[in-house]
Amino acid sequence: MSFTLAIVGRPNVGKSTLFNRLVGKRLALVDDQPGVTRDLREGAAHLGDLDFTVIDTAGLEDATDESLEGRMRRLTERAVDMADICLFMVDARAGITATDQLFAEILRKRAKHVILAANKGEGSRADDGVMEAYGLGLGEPIRLSAEHGEGMTDLYAMLMPLADAFAEQAPSEEPEIDVTVDEDAEAPLREPTDEKPLQVAVIGRPNAGKSTLINRILGEDRLLTGPEAGITRDAISLRIDWEGTPCRIFDTAGMRRKAKVQDKLEKLSVSDGIRAVKFAEVVVILLDAEIPFEQQDLRIADLAEREGRAVVVAVNKWDLETDKQHRLKELREDFERLLPQLRGAPLVTVSAKTGKGIDRLHGAILRAYRVWNARVPTAQLNRWLGEMIEAHPPPAPQGRRIKLRYMTQAKTRPPGFVVMCSHPDRIPEAYSRYLVNGLREHFDMPGTPIRLTMRGQG
Ligand code: GDP
Ligand code: GDP
Repeated sequence: MSFTLAIVGRPNVGKSTLFNRLVGKRLALVDDQPGVTRDLREGAAHLGDLDFTVIDTAGLEDATDESLEGRMRRLTERAVDMADICLFMVDARAGITATDQLFAEILRKRAKHVILAANKGEGSRADDGVMEAYGLGLGEPIRLSAEHGEGMTDLYAMLMPLADAFAEQAPSEEPEIDVTVDEDAEAPLREPTDEKPLQVAVIGRPNAGKSTLINRILGEDRLLTGPEAGITRDAISLRIDWEGTPCRIFDTAGMRRKAKVQDKLEKLSVSDGIRAVKFAEVVVILLDAEIPFEQQDLRIADLAEREGRAVVVAVNKWDLETDKQHRLKELREDFERLLPQLRGAPLVTVSAKTGKGIDRLHGAILRAYRVWNARVPTAQLNRWLGEMIEAHPPPAPQGRRIKLRYMTQAKTRPPGFVVMCSHPDRIPEAYSRYLVNGLREHFDMPGTPIRLTMRGQG
């Protein structure tokens, strides 16, 4: 089964250019004047081995027109409703505008899947715009150059798992939940290897103890990279075998020391964090036990969750705590209150200085990584879904019960699930949360974000 992709965004960001590239013929007219193409157009698109339908939403003739916003909204909503996936395009050279924000809002509310693309991404002029795009709250942007064909592999990588999910969809007859599909072969646990070391980033505010922690990890296990690595701490990432686990550690502390210009420090530390999160499979958020959960910590934690990274929270300088038990209880409560989106993430206390707790940190990282990669067999999922529905049926708006028909895991890293149901837009947040929390508990998935998508059929 194929899918439909709508390209949406404000005029002149390059939608038609991408449309043309995907369709392979010059079907849509491209021009430097905003909005030369009109209304919605459809084409048969190819990207790698994917075949799908693409909709282009050009057709907003005049960017200064008073009624532009209304028309733009209507057109976009129409495209969004027609599409399975929306590619939201912004212009990385122009940066994020108020109109982009407006689009982001429509998409957040309405779209089933959004892929954020920062176009005109060729060259360094686009760097700032790509960073800004993170602020839209729609996940990691892919950097594209529709004109030069750059970033198409990234686009493919984003579409592929979604395409798989559509291909796996149940037939439109109503299958009974229990008899849907055959048991998947048990997927082998994914372990870090020399070729694919576990990518870890240690992130935290200045003075949290990142350097001390990384030195401690390095010191205990001898660096395995080049002859000088480990001493040359200006390397951005360090390859080590941490208690036998091949790891690559992203060293933000080392990077910061490289920054000479003092007043660029703040800016640098934020983009460091973003880079580190992008790089990492597991993000270790290192807190200072004396001053935990600072604004900056919360921002990074939130970013890590939105980017779908596995997260381990480590509380450092634990050697300084006197009433450890009481303090731990406090920390857990703060954690739950301030970072509800990271529910279930492990919290480990460590002392980078004495080395205490570093073993447990290692264990927590490895476990978070495994869970992040985990795949739950479809039959087990559907058995579980049946039980969840029995315990708490979905709501019945206007007396008509929403049917949850069937469920499958569409992706890993982080785990993403798709539930096929009768009225996806009517399922309340709370019910989705009930399912996500249930999934986490039943299939034992701490330390990873879990994505759950409701999809209608047909
Ligand atoms: P639309 O209004 O969003 O459909 O935008 P168009 O596809 O018509 O493109 C608007 C302008 O941006 C045209 O002049 C394109 O050549 C240009 N453009 C599109 N993609 C890129 C790109 O990746 N890099 C650069 N530098 N320009 C681009
Ligand atoms: P960074 O800026 O996050 O890299 O932090 P550093 O590693 O440079 O550490 C900042 C300060 O905290 C230094 O004075 C360290 O000695 C101290 N520190 C780091 N870890 C610990 C710890 O576990 N316990 C104590 N008591 N001090 C620590």
